[in-house]
Amino acid sequence: MKKVVVVGAGYAGLSGALELRRRLPDSDTVTVISGSKYFIFYPSLIWMVQYERDLADISFPIQPVLAEAGLEFVNAWVNTINPLDKTVALSTGQTLTYDKLMIAAGGAWDWDAVPGLGPPPAGYTVSILSPQAALDAQAAWTAFLIDPGPIVIGATLNTGLFGVAYELALNLDMALRRDNLRDRASITFVTPEPFLGHFGHGGLGNSRHIIEEAFAKRSILSITEAQIDHIEPDAVVLAGQRRLSSRFTMIVPPYRGIKPVRDVPNLADEQGRIPVDDFYRSLVYPDIFAAGVAVQVKSPVRTTLPCGVLVPGTVSAEMGRGAAANIAADLGHGDAVPKPADGLKSFYVFDSGSHGVFMSLGAQPWLNVQLNIPGPWSHWAKIAAERYQIWQLQSGRY
Ligand SMILES: Cc1cc2nc3c(=O)[nH]c(=O)nc-3n(C[C@H](O)[C@H](O)[C@H](O)COP(=O)(O)OP(=O)(O)OC[C@H]3O[C@@H](n4cnc5c(N)ncnc54)[C@H](O)[C@@H]3O)c2cc1C
Repeated sequence: MKKVVVVGAGYAGLSGALELRRRLPDSDTVTVISGSKYFIFYPSLIWMVQYERDLADISFPIQPVLAEAGLEFVNAWVNTINPLDKTVALSTGQTLTYDKLMIAAGGAWDWDAVPGLGPPPAGYTVSILSPQAALDAQAAWTAFLIDPGPIVIGATLNTGLFGVAYELALNLDMALRRDNLRDRASITFVTPEPFLGHFGHGGLGNSRHIIEEAFAKRSILSITEAQIDHIEPDAVVLAGQRRLSSRFTMIVPPYRGIKPVRDVPNLADEQGRIPVDDFYRSLVYPDIFAAGVAVQVKSPVRTTLPCGVLVPGTVSAEMGRGAAANIAADLGHGDAVPKPADGLKSFYVFDSGSHGVFMSLGAQPWLNVQLNIPGPWSHWAKIAAERYQIWQLQSGRY
């Protein structure tokens, strides 16, 4: 009897655990550990700021999904990983042993990347990167609307999650127009990317053109190749000391691997991401696999200022399934399947307010489609994607 432990129950952990259950015999156990009891559909957090979504709409409890599939669930945080005796120590005081470990624990945010970055009391920016942060941003937005002023939205060096910043800028523009307040609030977008729509990839099809066009039409100012020096209560100060006044600031920080991963010698890079081979196996510890945002994915192009790359939800799930197939193969069930992370297809619908941007990216040319058709259709398309993906995950079909 073999024991597989999966840390995390997001896109990567949930889909990976379900795939493991399909591939392994009942005599092998698959235990999922997650600090959160809920799956959160992160792409919809941008809508919580303007009261378009409640947390209940975009989350579901994990335990029933896992129980239905015959998977064990432990609701606890992993505090330490010990690859030498193959154990994980949990916040509950339990220690679990494993034969194979899949780390699908996403990442933490590096709020120390820029002084003043992050929500109060430590910083001066709102965040929409967790449900509580999105609720706090909602309250800050409500207060801002009473007396609007300049807005700065953007990203730090090494960020990969550019899409969130683009979407928020375009959605806030739309919200302000709806309330006839746009002339009282400028929006400035700051990014380390060499051009808008670069995404750390050198552009995704014609993303540069469509985002530049969308920003120009909505009078959203932009500063590319921008490095933020520090953030003050009412300003974002760039390297070179250019000062941008701001009364509502949202800056996406870089990811940093979770502490138990960073604490294992040589498991992760300096940002805490795990380098893996084409089978999602750690380059250092053969019984440890990783999937999703926890994996090191490098930008395929060089930029003047360092940019990360987005690891989308669909790609994270595919990594989870890939890691599961290779763990099962290691345990004698099926063949190993190489699936390099940078070759995985991704699917991205931008909700850009009333300026619809659709991006589909894939290995084959016919999967590379980027469209810019004005109208609310991208909003509806993103809602459809949200409903479909939540249904898939909650019904164990993902
Ligand atoms: C605001 C926002 C908007 C986004 N928008 C999009 C989008 O539009 N399209 C898109 O494709 N992608 C989007 N993404 C990216 C997408 O959410 C990620 O690709 C995806 O969540 C990664 O999945 P994951 O399973 O690797 O990690 P996560 O989803 O982060 O899951 C991590 C899991 O690990 C658990 N965990 C963490 N630490 C521990 C620990 N120490 N012990 C136990 N459990 C632990 C957590 O509880 C969670 O269950 C967005 C992300 C954010 C934050």
